[in-house]
Amino acid sequence: MTFETVIGLEVHAQLQTQSKLFCGCATEFGSPANTRTCPVCLGLPGSLPVVNKRAVEMAIRTGLALNCTVRPTNQFARKNYFYPDLPKGYQISQYDQPICENGRLEFKANGTPKSVRIRRAHLEEDAGKNSHTGARSFVDLNRAGTPLIEIVTEPDLRSAEEVVLYLKTLRDVLMYIDVCDGNMEQGSLRCEPNLSLRPAGSDGFGTKVELKNINSFKFVKDAIDYEIKRQTKVLTEGGTVHQETRLWDIERSQTMVMRSKEEAHDYRYFPDPDLVPLAISDDWIAELQSTIQELPDDRHQRFLKDYGLPDYDAGVLTSSRALADYFEACVTLFPEPKLISNFMMSEFLRELHQSGTAVESSPVSPERLVGLLTLVHDQTISLKVAKEIFPELYAGNKSAAQLVEEKGLRQLSDEGALSALIDAVIEQHPAQVTQYRGGKEAVLGFLVGQVMKRSGGQANPQKVNALFKIRLAR
Ligand code: ADP
Ligand code: MG
Ligand code: ZN
Repeated sequence: MTFETVIGLEVHAQLQTQSKLFCGCATEFGSPANTRTCPVCLGLPGSLPVVNKRAVEMAIRTGLALNCTVRPTNQFARKNYFYPDLPKGYQISQYDQPICENGRLEFKANGTPKSVRIRRAHLEEDAGKNSHTGARSFVDLNRAGTPLIEIVTEPDLRSAEEVVLYLKTLRDVLMYIDVCDGNMEQGSLRCEPNLSLRPAGSDGFGTKVELKNINSFKFVKDAIDYEIKRQTKVLTEGGTVHQETRLWDIERSQTMVMRSKEEAHDYRYFPDPDLVPLAISDDWIAELQSTIQELPDDRHQRFLKDYGLPDYDAGVLTSSRALADYFEACVTLFPEPKLISNFMMSEFLRELHQSGTAVESSPVSPERLVGLLTLVHDQTISLKVAKEIFPELYAGNKSAAQLVEEKGLRQLSDEGALSALIDAVIEQHPAQVTQYRGGKEAVLGFLVGQVMKRSGGQANPQKVNALFKIRLAR
């Protein structure tokens, strides 16, 4: 029997607020343990939560970007469970009244459009962090109370590849609208795939397993592929899949049982009496809607249309807002989109990656990059030379024109000088000249190469090519 994979995702994204969801403590990552805490996020008796308006705004904007409806009245709920890093003994979350619901996210899987339904997106607070060394355990509550939005899909995904594409698209959207920094290593975006199998062609659902807290695209793919194999084996051997939560064990490259799955009623959800219901007006929603600029996919489509770029280029350049902004700043200064795109996707991104620099902090401004590419366009220098001097342009603050002058890299484009070199080459290689005239056009490359050699690499190859063709046609 063959099986079809069914996957629904729960994604936790950390909202980029300055302060926590229900208190004024800072949310920044990496502070000394327990220095970003107060009575509220320590869960001390008598302290009272106050909701962070910025977090609510970010949640609404997320919902709007994901085509959700925003609920006009919201109630926070207590989700009761015990963990050492959850000092109140409950997590403030949303239960039957999520702030956003019934959305969708679209992307292309192997060129085919795919639409994934978003069941809900709700606000909740994060827990702290436990760590264990030897026989001792520690609790750091800096992260406790950090605002999260949990985005839950319907079981619409069918493979690890689709899940990764969904996640990348979601991450791009969240980063574009500035609600999440998308940093998976620091845990700003964590993913929990729910996975079941069913006989191919059937509509029912099999028993699902939840894979907990995965924080890289690679681990998501590995964990899902492993779990598909594991469940296939269980079902093929006539066994039953147990509903449970499993962890991805990086060392062993396998999923391990963490706990048998709890049901919603185990958490004894109830409305948090410390928080008044949250009313969201249509005006507020409209105001927030107006702050959502072009989303990645719209921008991608516009790049195809406005700049005539290939689909691949448009995809790379719109993969982050900063990169797309940089590209558009260049095109505004110098309307040669394809030349700019090629250079950005190769040399420019390579230097940034090598030095671990974000596009926003690129030491080469659009002006300086365009300065370089203008020299290529007007044939002052070859593309090859432009690539060679780019690392220096990147490392220093000279303009491309300055570098070219100082190093004497100007191409030799003067026709008189080039003709003299061409004459000399024709005289020295009569055999090749005869071959070319006899129809063996490939020999032209050899002749041009000889001129390049004689000029010490400075001759303008396009010009030399053109001049040769004229000379040898006679
Ligand atoms: P739970 O109450 O166990 O958390 P939910 O019904 O709330 O389960 O769904 C949680 C996630 O699991 C959702 O993303 C949903 O799409 C997905 N899901 C639900 N049932 C299945 C299934 N049989 N197979 C795969 N995913 C599923
Ligand atoms: Mg769940
Ligand atoms: Zn606090």
